Amino acid sequence: MKINFSGLKRTEQLEQLQKEKYDLLIIGGGITGAGIALDAVTRGMKVALVEMQDFAAGTSSRSTKLVHGGLRYLKQFEINVVKEVGRERAIVYENGPHVTTPEWMLLPFHKGGTFGAFTTSIGLKMYDYLAQVKKSERRKMLSAAETLNKEPLVKKEGLKGGGYYVEYRTDDARLTIEVMKAAVEHGAHVVNYTKAETFIYNNDKKITGVVVRDLQTNKEYEINAEKVVNAAGPWVDQVRGKDYSRNNKQLRLTKGIHLVFDQSVFPLRQAVYFDTPDGRMIFAIPRDGKTYVGTTDTFFDKDTAHPKMLSADRDYVIKAIHYIFPDVKITNDDVESSWAGVRPLIYEQGKDPSEISRKDEIWEADSGLITIAGGKLTGYRKMAENVLDLVSKELSATHQKTYKPCQTIHFPISGGDVGGSDNYQAFVAQKTKEAVQYGLTEEEGGILASKYGTNVDQLFQYAQQYKELGEEDLTPFVYAQLMYAIEQEMVVKPIDFFIRRTGAVFFNINWAKQWKDSVINKMEAIFDWTAEQTNEYKAELEKEIKDAEVPVDLQ
Ligand SMILES: Cc1cc2nc3c(=O)[nH]c(=O)nc-3n(C[C@H](O)[C@H](O)[C@H](O)COP(=O)(O)OP(=O)(O)OC[C@H]3O[C@@H](n4cnc5c(N)ncnc54)[C@H](O)[C@@H]3O)c2cc1C
Repeated sequence: MKINFSGLKRTEQLEQLQKEKYDLLIIGGGITGAGIALDAVTRGMKVALVEMQDFAAGTSSRSTKLVHGGLRYLKQFEINVVKEVGRERAIVYENGPHVTTPEWMLLPFHKGGTFGAFTTSIGLKMYDYLAQVKKSERRKMLSAAETLNKEPLVKKEGLKGGGYYVEYRTDDARLTIEVMKAAVEHGAHVVNYTKAETFIYNNDKKITGVVVRDLQTNKEYEINAEKVVNAAGPWVDQVRGKDYSRNNKQLRLTKGIHLVFDQSVFPLRQAVYFDTPDGRMIFAIPRDGKTYVGTTDTFFDKDTAHPKMLSADRDYVIKAIHYIFPDVKITNDDVESSWAGVRPLIYEQGKDPSEISRKDEIWEADSGLITIAGGKLTGYRKMAENVLDLVSKELSATHQKTYKPCQTIHFPISGGDVGGSDNYQAFVAQKTKEAVQYGLTEEEGGILASKYGTNVDQLFQYAQQYKELGEEDLTPFVYAQLMYAIEQEMVVKPIDFFIRRTGAVFFNINWAKQWKDSVINKMEAIFDWTAEQTNEYKAELEKEIKDAEVPVDLQ
């Protein structure tokens, strides 16, 4: 389905936003805002959303990239979080099998460690029960020999066995953009690089809209809406600070980093979830020829938009790798890339970062502003359902309007309509073969089909277009992704493309380095940038690449 979600048409979109009166305006285009937009529009509401950076540029591109129930929360007796989020995993997977992949996870236990055979077995069994895990994915308990058979790199000394259970791997930024596109396909008006600056009130001191600023042109627009939801993630307190009626609740931000290695230096075969000597839990996950490991958890009070890896973060993760995988002789020089994110958690007095609950909460201020905070990527759909139950009730009461109940449980996100997860592999195989007609290799076709799902036909059309253009600066594979990102996923800057739409800066940094100049040249021509703009965007991308490679305190 072709939609109006082009980076070249942002100004038209903003002018449209100013003309309409919306039922709901959402501030924040991370996974929480995207989920709310999709839920609202499919209930029949008129919906607008503004994002001050790129979509998912906040926490939603910086997570561990797992759709998971949070096994470790069982340790903290957060039964409800595990139950609710765990159950959402299967829904997220069914609605978007192209962005979510089941991944068997190994949980090794050693003599003297936090977990033993008994606690692991009970914990995983409880997880199966709470998360209503399907039979084929329920936990298995492994002997030490079986554990090593699954992953020979795990520390042998003191190894007593392992738990084996399923989590789901995702690409958080692509999950966000696919949910956002689904919302746009159903009528939501959505724009990035547009900041909500001030609230507009009526005589009863209720919010009736927001003044926003297009950060690309510095122009202001007024958007009118019956209800406004603050889904600004780590910035929710800043957005609430613009309203006169905030309550006492407050966020506490904690930072987490991940390191990426090439499989040639860290040949991990199997995803592993392990506990560190200081009692934390860390994931090591193989992915597309790389292995990534994280995360740390430390309080954070710096620049929310630019959390970065520091040398202390890097050293902590490398030490943890050496502890559990003693045969892996990696050094600081082997870190190929990294990313850092901040968790928007709800403040709890006296708690350490890892102990603060990951539960979400919804607050409504006297002004009518609804704020949603906390939570997890995995629970985005349910969080949106809860917010919309409230919005729908209020709008129905004040305006005698009726809306449909929540529609999103069985609702494919954009690219996810492959007829259910069971058909997904056959779909990818079919598209892999078709790709060669469009000047792509079978391998490239497979990558595109796995990444874009049923939208892949549009990428094939762009690849065909490139063939016909007869140009040689890019390849059909690069051109197709770039043009699709610009015209169908509102890409505006090179960093949007290389970080959020392709994930290349994290998982294929050499590809990003190889194509950055040609892509920037192409974007300069398409967007008609001045030399100054081109240089600014180039420098921005170079800085992101450097920050991914080298801790900022060592630059
Ligand atoms: C290290 C780490 C690992 C994690 N791992 C996992 C995991 O594996 N699985 C999982 O389920 N969860 C995980 N999480 C949690 C998950 O990533 C977050 O809960 C989720 O991404 C939060 O999404 P959000 O949309 O609320 O916030 P964000 O993604 O930060 O989105 C908020 C958006 O609001 C925008 N904004 C702010 N102010 C304004 C304004 N005034 N106007 C317009 N826009 C504005 C921001 O630019 C931002 O893009 C992890 C988190 C971290 C930090």
